Amino acid sequence: MSTVLETQEHQALRAAVAALGKRYGRDYMTGVVAGEGHPDELWADAAKLGYLGVNLPEEYGGGGGGIAELSIVLEELGAAGCPLLMMVVSPAICGTVIARFGTDEQKQTWLPGLADGTRTMAFGITEPDAGSNSHRITTTARKDEASGDWLLTGRKVFISGVDIADATLIVGRTEDARTGNLKPCLFIVPRETEGFHRRRIEMELQAPEKQFELTLDDVRLPADALVGDEDAGLLQLFAGLNPERIMTAAFSLGMARYALSRAVGYAKERSVWKSPIGAHQAIAHPLAQAHIDIELARLMMQKAARLYDEGDDMGAGEAANMAKLAAADACVKAVDQSVHTLGGNGLTKEFGLASLIVASRVARIAPVSREMILNYVSHQTLGLPKSY
Ligand SMILES: Cc1cc2nc3c(=O)[nH]c(=O)nc-3n(C[C@H](O)[C@H](O)[C@H](O)COP(=O)(O)OP(=O)(O)OC[C@H]3O[C@@H](n4cnc5c(N)ncnc54)[C@H](O)[C@@H]3O)c2cc1C
Repeated sequence: MSTVLETQEHQALRAAVAALGKRYGRDYMTGVVAGEGHPDELWADAAKLGYLGVNLPEEYGGGGGGIAELSIVLEELGAAGCPLLMMVVSPAICGTVIARFGTDEQKQTWLPGLADGTRTMAFGITEPDAGSNSHRITTTARKDEASGDWLLTGRKVFISGVDIADATLIVGRTEDARTGNLKPCLFIVPRETEGFHRRRIEMELQAPEKQFELTLDDVRLPADALVGDEDAGLLQLFAGLNPERIMTAAFSLGMARYALSRAVGYAKERSVWKSPIGAHQAIAHPLAQAHIDIELARLMMQKAARLYDEGDDMGAGEAANMAKLAAADACVKAVDQSVHTLGGNGLTKEFGLASLIVASRVARIAPVSREMILNYVSHQTLGLPKSY
């Protein structure tokens, strides 16, 4: 892979994370999933080396870098076959939102743990009746005037990692902003809070991170559970959502590279006629195209990360959306072609590529579907009218 566009520090980070990923690899992740466990050893090692908090402020134990660095970490672990999905939510969304908008106390309480990986935070915005339309979320926060506490009621679906996260950052809305365009407010809800119930959703995904339906039943939270300001609204939310999209792009690119490298290796070795199957252009060209698509998507991801890290939230929004769409599409195609390249072996458990067919679809749906990104570009960039 060409790295001329990256600084020497970024290249060194890539190489170091790739070396860590290689020590663990796909077999480690497959074993963790088979044992219904979690990649705790890899998480701890990555944390010890400073990779998980590389984007968080130095004064709270982070690396003082940005999403550019964090996305390198996730992409390289993915390329080695052992991505850490919780990086997308814990340091990228929750860490960023708290670092940018949290109170001093919230920063002191959460950032050191998120940075050194000893604590994790999940993120919950999706609701059963809202889905792609976040403006429709109904999780409502009511202020108990006597105590100053918040009472949070609502439902969430598909929230990743709630069982292992110390807390979940829940997106709700205050009672006086119950309808109309979303004026979100964000609450830190510790895992064992009374009234905060979770039920696992069985997915066809072979990943250690599980998804949950959450029911919040008059969950009582202290006043300081509200992150930042009730009125900061969308600005605060998007401070977390752009990193999420950039990190989802990194997740997809890692998986795409992993699948492609397996297919290329196989295509060089496997011969059923005179030469290896990789000599047939019907095999070689789609793999070459997959490589091109990955490289193009990474360029857009780097642009999005750069804009975001330089503080251009608006510019980063468009680029992060485009990067996520391009990387998700590149991943779906790379995985599909890789499985095909292995013929029957592509569908065996032994070669382990077929499960990526399901996994590669996730980024087309979450955190925002490709249709919603196409809508965004149609309306925001091209100025076309809305159909909804
Ligand atoms: C593995 C996984 C992990 C997840 N983890 C989290 C998490 O940690 N936290 C969290 O909050 N959420 C999480 N999600 C939820 C995810 O963000 C949602 O699934 C996603 O936002 C889509 O919402 P939906 O599933 O309700 O689909 P819907 O909104 O019901 O959409 C269904 C289909 O209709 C299309 N569609 C909808 N509206 C339009 C329109 N206006 N124009 C064109 N097409 C449209 C969509 O593109 C999609 O193809 C996760 C999902 C998955 C699959």
